[in-house]
Amino acid sequence: MKRPIPQMSPPVTPAVDKIMRDLEKLIRFEPTCIKCGCTETNACPEGCSWVFINKQYEGLCSVCLDAIVRPFRQLRLDKARRK
Ligand SMILES: [Zn+2]
Ligand SMILES: [Zn+2]
Repeated sequence: MKRPIPQMSPPVTPAVDKIMRDLEKLIRFEPTCIKCGCTETNACPEGCSWVFINKQYEGLCSVCLDAIVRPFRQLRLDKARRK
């Protein structure tokens, strides 16, 4: 005969359950930058906007896009100058 698994978690009242679900929703539905980790409510210090956000609410912000694109832009400028 199997022994019942002891219930370790505290009893969840409907009110607690609702708060937990709301919190989960907030966390899950706040876009987060995959590169720097900034969020809707905690943006980069210089200010940023979303370049894209996927279905998992992972995004890339304008500051990070700039950091990715800048070296390429510089390369293109260098090439143009050499002509
Ligand atoms: Zn970012
Ligand atoms: Zn950002």
